[in-house]
Amino acid sequence: MIDLRSDTVTKLTDRMRQEMFRAEVGDDVYRDDPTIQKLEELAADMLGKEEALFVTSGTQGNQIAVLVHCSLGQEIILEEGSHIFIYEGGATSAFAGIQPFPIKGERGIMSAVDVEATIRGTDIHEAETGLICLENTHNRAGGTVMSPEKMKEIFEVAERHSIPIHLDGARLMNAAVVLKRPMTDFTQYVTTVQICLSKGLGAPVGSIIAGSTEFITKARKWRKRLGGGLRQAGVLAAPGIVALTEMIDRLKEDHEHAAWLASQIDSIPTLKVASQVETNIVMMDVSETELTSKQFVEKLKDHGVLANPFAPTIVRLVTHYDVSKADIHQTAAVLKNIVTSNVGS
Ligand SMILES: *Cc1c(COP(=O)(O)O)cnc(C)c1O
Repeated sequence: MIDLRSDTVTKLTDRMRQEMFRAEVGDDVYRDDPTIQKLEELAADMLGKEEALFVTSGTQGNQIAVLVHCSLGQEIILEEGSHIFIYEGGATSAFAGIQPFPIKGERGIMSAVDVEATIRGTDIHEAETGLICLENTHNRAGGTVMSPEKMKEIFEVAERHSIPIHLDGARLMNAAVVLKRPMTDFTQYVTTVQICLSKGLGAPVGSIIAGSTEFITKARKWRKRLGGGLRQAGVLAAPGIVALTEMIDRLKEDHEHAAWLASQIDSIPTLKVASQVETNIVMMDVSETELTSKQFVEKLKDHGVLANPFAPTIVRLVTHYDVSKADIHQTAAVLKNIVTSNVGS
């Protein structure tokens, strides 16, 4: 099976397994795990923040950030398609007791003007804005990249109103690779950041959150409260170190594969790319085939390709390191085959 459902399906590399085997471990709740400490120091350095914390998942990392930054009854401003709003089980309300205030972005990117107009809290009727959340790359918008310059515009608004910014950077590495800029170019404009080790970077488990020492001290406590205090988890941190040191530069291959696949899709009469491809996510519009995305995905599966029905007529295809160039060529052939054999049926 060629698995294009998500970059989360990547399996760890041989090097990661070797590093797991060798990893020195200790009880991390006692801060005794040298491998976790090494990962956290490396990540803090790469993200330009004082400290970092290894957390069990991206959702846990994002939610810890919301819990640290906000208090009960506050509001967070985020983009209407953002992962924190759409895909985290209502956790911001369930755990932090805040309400999301979603606003519409352009390809997932909120304008600084809209963000500023949405900040509230001076009137007695209003919830107070406690946090602004950004997402880069933006998943639902199709892996779109927000430039550091765009982030700076929102940063300046946030500064003016003394509101922190949290970046859901699950795929920040993809944005950095596309723009050929260090991650610190982006993270200088946010208070805290979350990155995923287990998506395109291929580690089996975990995310990193980073921010000031004060933030991480509070985050560590929230992680413990949420049941995320880890013991001999150096075995999980070891592949994370490989992910950060060896797996970022090669993301450009995934981007090339996605761009090539998009060009093939555009050359097939009844298929269209729904949103310009910038990184490793391809949103394919199947409406003209007269198949729903679910039906299309079933046909793909019959031909050995897995993908996700993303919206009623949109199929999402995600490239990653477990998908070779040959797999992408095969996928394009399958797409042509499905569309041709569907004609008149
Ligand atoms: C995958 C993802 C997350 C985190 O997901 P987990 O499954 O909890 O690790 C957060 N934000 C975005 C944009 C993502 O794509």
